[in-house]
Amino acid sequence: MGDTVQQLQDQFRHLRMVETAKELPVILRQAEQFSWTYLEFLQELLTYELKRREEKNIEKRLHWAKFPYHKTLHEFHIDEQRSLSTRQINQLKELHWLEQQYHLILLGPPGVGKTHIAIGLGLEAIQKGFQASFVTMGELIHLLKTQEYLRKSQIQLKRIKESDLVIIDDLMYMAMDQREANLFFHLINDLYERSSLILTSNKGPEGWGELVGDQGIMTAILDRLLHRVEVIQFDDDSYRLKHRLTIFERDSVQS
Ligand code: ADP
Ligand code: MG
Repeated sequence: MGDTVQQLQDQFRHLRMVETAKELPVILRQAEQFSWTYLEFLQELLTYELKRREEKNIEKRLHWAKFPYHKTLHEFHIDEQRSLSTRQINQLKELHWLEQQYHLILLGPPGVGKTHIAIGLGLEAIQKGFQASFVTMGELIHLLKTQEYLRKSQIQLKRIKESDLVIIDDLMYMAMDQREANLFFHLINDLYERSSLILTSNKGPEGWGELVGDQGIMTAILDRLLHRVEVIQFDDDSYRLKHRLTIFERDSVQS
């Protein structure tokens, strides 16, 4: 019996049903324990393989996405801010905008939850079978500038270009020179028709031109982006500041 199971495991591996191969002894024991019919047995076996494959696929896509941290939309406290309603969050969560290749621009001062929302939507997209990539503007410029001689940058840029959703965080934090602006423009040009973009920034699009130092390029980039875009403006106080730890007792500042 043991030999036969081993042989079957090898055959499953040969057929690239690796997960079933590993789990076979357990599945066989359950089949005996619960007196599964042939049909039930086959169903359980195949369902297991498909479920594990999907889980591994999600793990792989999560790894590729390179999120700086994992925070879900569930962890976003709607009542702590005034910029998005529950209905709007739910609408974003349904990802129709992603299917229709809309772009999102999240604007607002630091600490209001722009990155959190972007990551939450990215996680949601991955769960639903999409591929997502997260990159800060600084990292992106570095990738673009080093792609010719760094294989690592090449691979990451390839994944970004293959993603259904590309999150570019902290757009325009740094001033770009002409060459950087050109590289960025070409990337956006490659991306904007094939994928959805989420851009976060503390400056509105009207301020982007001066940072790029080239109004012409900026107009061209914006022209492409603003065609199908939803702009979400956060005008709350910083969540970080509101919830910061204090060295004073909370009720001691009376006088
Ligand atoms: P931003 O990108 O706008 O600077 P972040 O998304 O990095 O801000 O948010 C700062 C921190 O505060 C993060 O840890 C984030 O999870 C948390 N945060 C911000 N807004 C909320 C909120 N409404 N509910 C829960 N956590 C929040
Ligand atoms: Mg941020």
